[in-house]
Amino acid sequence: MSKGNGGNHQFDTKLIHFGGELDPATGASSAPIYQASTFHHHDIFNPPEFDYSRSGNPTRQALEDYIAVLEGGAGGYAFASGMAAISTTFMLFSAGDHLIVTEDVYGGTYRLLTNILSRLNIETTFVDMTDPDAVKAALKPNTKGVYMETPSNPTLKITDIGLIAAWAREHGLLSIVDNTFMTPYYQRPIELGVDIVLHSATKFLGGHSDVLAGLAVARTKELADRLKYVQNGLGTVLGAQDSWLLMRGMKTLGARMAHSEISARKLADWLNRREDIAAVFYPGLPEHPGREVQERQSTGYGAVVSFDVGSGERAKEVLSRVKLPLVAVSLGAVESILSYPAMMSHASMPAEVRQERGITDGLLRFSVGLEDIGDLIADLEQALQPR
Ligand SMILES: *Cc1c(COP(=O)(O)O)cnc(C)c1O
Repeated sequence: MSKGNGGNHQFDTKLIHFGGELDPATGASSAPIYQASTFHHHDIFNPPEFDYSRSGNPTRQALEDYIAVLEGGAGGYAFASGMAAISTTFMLFSAGDHLIVTEDVYGGTYRLLTNILSRLNIETTFVDMTDPDAVKAALKPNTKGVYMETPSNPTLKITDIGLIAAWAREHGLLSIVDNTFMTPYYQRPIELGVDIVLHSATKFLGGHSDVLAGLAVARTKELADRLKYVQNGLGTVLGAQDSWLLMRGMKTLGARMAHSEISARKLADWLNRREDIAAVFYPGLPEHPGREVQERQSTGYGAVVSFDVGSGERAKEVLSRVKLPLVAVSLGAVESILSYPAMMSHASMPAEVRQERGITDGLLRFSVGLEDIGDLIADLEQALQPR
């Protein structure tokens, strides 16, 4: 049915020839948008492959097969948002189960675990995943899953994915990675032994700040079937138009990541040399404690740089003075995005917890886009200038 198959090609080739890139019926150069909720049964004794768009839609299917090829899993699934992918995956667990989760997890995931899943008697222990002993010490008789996010948000701490996944397997736990920051271009957790990979495709995969979406990929067919069952049961699916738009964005993932990462390295180096910056967090910096693990498990450092300007007052000054980046929640787009975790992505985290996790009032997170890096640095320089 499809021309390419992802097959044995290099990653950059798979991004373009993933299997669903053409319309099988006409050869059109992009997958058709099947804007339909239901499908006619031509032969009532022989039901069609697709029968209702919550259970399956050909446009969404092309996207789901695409992400499965990129992450190297048995099945992929597309959701209405990153949080829809994450919450649906958590529905693989049951009341009474216990989860071990990265302490500086995405703010929305933290809220889901502490205020919503806790009501359903799914219990969480947050640990510093950079310390394998802390992870091991959190194990309980009812532990069923380990949830990693690496690099973590916004302080870019690095978890050793292979080490934690192997330990999880030994104890019969499901291992899950939120791979939003790295994308499969730089990091493929399933190849490192992980069971489920999650994405907020709203970020780098979509890449244009114009679509909200989530993706999940399961390592095995058995797990993929269970995930599909909860996706259909909860109805958290992505629509056909957004599925098409996401594929449109994903085709340029390699070119965008490579460009933004080179710029991010330059930005991190520049910030690191400044006396008036209290701290710079970027896994590509020589003194970053996770650099060695990052280099072992990924092929790059990504395009997000966090830095502490010293105080909340100064952070707000910088935010009001920058002219190029979007000052906004979100990341991973063609335009640079500067965000203020304490008041944006991590506002739902209690202030004490935020401080404990290094999300200080002076911390800013810079997602580097495709602008000229010289212009971005000059803009930041004028915003940091005392006046
Ligand atoms: C944005 C984000 C999410 C949530 O995704 P949405 O698409 O906003 O629902 C989850 N994890 C990480 C790391 C994110 O950056």
